[in-house]
Amino acid sequence: MRNISHEEYDVIVLGAGAAGLMSAITAAKKSKRILVLEKSNKVGKKILMSGGGRCNFTNRYVESHHFISNNPHFCKSALKNYTPQDFIDLVEQHEIEYEERKHHQLFCKHSAKEIVNMLLQECNDLGIKIKTECDVKAVDPISNQELRNNLNAKNTHYRYSINVAISNKQGVEQLTILCQSLIIATGALSIPTLGGSDYGYRLAEQFNLPLIERRAGLVPFKFNDHLKNLCENLSGLSLPVIIDCNGTEFEESLLFTHKGISGPVVLQTSNYWNPGDTIAVNLLPKLDAMENILKQKEQNKNVTIRKHLNGLMPKALIIELQKLWWPGYEDYSICEISNKELRIIGAHLNKWDLKPSSTEGYKTAEVTLGGIDTDAIDSKTMEVRNQKGLYFIGEVVDVTGHLGGFNFQWAWASGYTAGLFA
Ligand SMILES: Cc1cc2nc3c(=O)[nH]c(=O)nc-3n(C[C@H](O)[C@H](O)[C@H](O)COP(=O)(O)OP(=O)(O)OC[C@H]3O[C@@H](n4cnc5c(N)ncnc54)[C@H](O)[C@@H]3O)c2cc1C
Repeated sequence: MRNISHEEYDVIVLGAGAAGLMSAITAAKKSKRILVLEKSNKVGKKILMSGGGRCNFTNRYVESHHFISNNPHFCKSALKNYTPQDFIDLVEQHEIEYEERKHHQLFCKHSAKEIVNMLLQECNDLGIKIKTECDVKAVDPISNQELRNNLNAKNTHYRYSINVAISNKQGVEQLTILCQSLIIATGALSIPTLGGSDYGYRLAEQFNLPLIERRAGLVPFKFNDHLKNLCENLSGLSLPVIIDCNGTEFEESLLFTHKGISGPVVLQTSNYWNPGDTIAVNLLPKLDAMENILKQKEQNKNVTIRKHLNGLMPKALIIELQKLWWPGYEDYSICEISNKELRIIGAHLNKWDLKPSSTEGYKTAEVTLGGIDTDAIDSKTMEVRNQKGLYFIGEVVDVTGHLGGFNFQWAWASGYTAGLFA
């Protein structure tokens, strides 16, 4: 008999981000021994950076239509188990001041750090152990036979063994850890410097779970044609627009950047965009531009198109659009331009078809679309259907929220659900 030294836990959580910490807190209310293993040197890095440092921690109104997934119904059960109000109650218990911004988005009044501190305090009060700088080398299902023969475990309820190298001041400690339930909350690919990793997908492959193709979401667009110059010239300028992409519309502000376009409306749109798709930008959402410009002509208004648009959109943008849509007519009055030309210009203003060359990718994306196919997971528990005691939660799963606090609400809700059943 080979006796391997090991530690034993009821629940192990891989990943100390939003979902992982919430699952540990929930599990600790019914099980005693909970351990969280975090790869990086700090917990909750994305929470700290979120919402411009103020963490848009939830949204007052969360519905399944705020999420993208191959199975749009999958998220419903978890979202019902743990509602925005549940998280608000926790925030209030910890006396964290928050504010409601437009579209019902809730942000910390002071700092995202308060949310991380709140979660850590909950963990501390519940006796949850957290180890950082953990390099998980292997995760293996274990049989009772192995437990008896090799590990001399105190009971035979353990289902997984984890080999991990933990860096600390003394050096690197190699550890074998046994657990009954294993919750994978290792997040997704976005922003590698904040912990973005493919670990969850690799583990899913090890257990033969299907994956939905991944791509960057909530991410700015880039252009590599003449529009790159236009965007560069307008960099920093923003205006309210509507963007339609593949039949889904968002109305919010658009921001020109050095490489292309960003701003809330663009980030939202990027979740529905696939390479090669065209997006339609309505620069004058409140106005039928064609009708408006023709009316000016009927009324014999002796103004240039540029002057007509002044006050309706930023001047710098008008100058750039002039180069695109009415070159040669810069100094003509509307009355001197044919109705046909004016109709074309008006139509462009309400529907500017743009074909981004790409997105900025995982380096700046707030989320990763796709992930572990929800068919493999029981939506009521977040447990893998054919793998007792193994749970996947948070962003690693094929559930992605719109901008506005929905991604954190999914992390809290899926984490809570797994914690209840693990
Ligand atoms: C810049 C930015 C701003 C954002 N702002 C908001 C916002 O305001 N509101 C909102 O709702 N959403 C926001 N999001 C999205 C939100 O942060 C994520 O959806 C959410 O953090 C996902 O939670 P998670 O726990 O699944 O993953 P993460 O929070 O990414 O946590 C995963 C954790 O697992 C660790 N890990 C990875 N691999 C391993 C491994 N092998 N072993 C152990 N640990 C591992 C990582 O280091 C990380 O700590 C933002 C995202 C970014 C990048």
